[in-house]
Amino acid sequence: MRIAILSRNPKLYSTNRLKEAAITRGHEVRIVDHLHCFMDITAAKPTVHYRNEEFGRNHFDAIIPRIGASVTFYGTAVARQFEMMGVYGVNESVAITRARDKLRSMQLLSRHGVGIPVTAFANRPDDISGLIREVGGAPLVVKLLEGTQGIGVVLAETKKAAESVIQAFMGLGSNILVQEFIKESKGSDIRCFVVGNKVIAAMQRQAPEGEFRSNLHRGGSATLVKLTPAERRTAVRAASVMGLNVAGVDILRSNRGPLVMEVNSSPGLRGIEEATGKNVAGMIIEFIEQNAKAGKTRTKGRG
Ligand code: ADP
Ligand code: MG
Repeated sequence: MRIAILSRNPKLYSTNRLKEAAITRGHEVRIVDHLHCFMDITAAKPTVHYRNEEFGRNHFDAIIPRIGASVTFYGTAVARQFEMMGVYGVNESVAITRARDKLRSMQLLSRHGVGIPVTAFANRPDDISGLIREVGGAPLVVKLLEGTQGIGVVLAETKKAAESVIQAFMGLGSNILVQEFIKESKGSDIRCFVVGNKVIAAMQRQAPEGEFRSNLHRGGSATLVKLTPAERRTAVRAASVMGLNVAGVDILRSNRGPLVMEVNSSPGLRGIEEATGKNVAGMIIEFIEQNAKAGKTRTKGRG
């Protein structure tokens, strides 16, 4: 097959591993920087222009979008253009957009019966106390909707601290979520790597001493973990509700079972491959081999 990886940086571990795995399995690969693509969206036959090339409908059999959080808007537009051309995308643009919005994700997961921490949202509450009460009072977690890699996630230990943080974020005009703090997870969470309808690898991430955020970017450490059947089911269900074929589903172990914190549409490969020793990139390529067919993209860029 001819596969395009939409990625801004060919030097990234994940991009490299996907490229390597595709070549090993006998495919042709191109890394395409989506920010350097442009499109005539009114053309009768949709194409993508890239530097001095033009990609038509038969140029690639599949794309692997690896779109960073800061370029979601343009990156998904490029992915959508490929979908309109009938090129198979392992994750569809609509699903990526959905997953990037924390509030929308939480609403969807909750509507489909996937366990999530008690979460409230407000734009300009006159009643900050009410908002805090809604999630069971302090300690609680305040999250910026656009945050990533642990930045913009704050633990407020007291009601006073919670009020100040909420007021400060709102004063800056930021959209926030207020969430119940899952104490019993003790600074750790579980990253379930879902491909298709299976969890193909999982790791536990532990925050360093004195920190509650377990993000590897915040100094967290990763180890192998054995999942319970309920955790597997939850992760697969969460990915499927979001419409993602490849997803990193982050779960907190709580007293009332697994709770999904977020679903990542371009999950990193380094941490998970190093912690588990699994060929995650190879399994993604294998999934594409089994599923990529021209015109198989469900939405074809609609929606
Ligand atoms: P980001 O998108 O920035 O990674 P997350 O929502 O994943 O934001 O939060 C970052 C980290 O903070 C999580 O990996 C987890 O360790 C911790 N965390 C987030 N929400 C909660 C919560 N409700 N209870 C306990 N810990 C939490
Ligand atoms: Mg996270």
